[in-house]
Amino acid sequence: MKTLLQSPPVRECAATVCSFNDGGCHAPAITVASSGDAASCATFVESSVSGGIADITGAVGACARTECVFNANLACSAESITVGPGATVSDCLTYQPA
Ligand code: SF4
Repeated sequence: MKTLLQSPPVRECAATVCSFNDGGCHAPAITVASSGDAASCATFVESSVSGGIADITGAVGACARTECVFNANLACSAESITVGPGATVSDCLTYQPA
């Protein structure tokens, strides 16, 4: 079985209250959801637990925004993405509807 070596990194995340954010995203694989007009990060969580893996940069695991130009079979083909406040506190700001 193969594992994925390269998923699009979360280059920048301005959702600093997220438990995965410590000077950037450290979640191994975020999910971007399709809820209303927002391409919101469904991995966003506020918790007293510090999330993720400190020495890795977060990456996109799956994305439900099939109408985005970067979406290919529910995965993201962008070089990298940026997350920050939009319609929700943590939207994919690289989202580009076709
Ligand atoms: S750029 Fe598009 S395909 Fe990639 S995570 Fe954001 S909304 Fe999904």
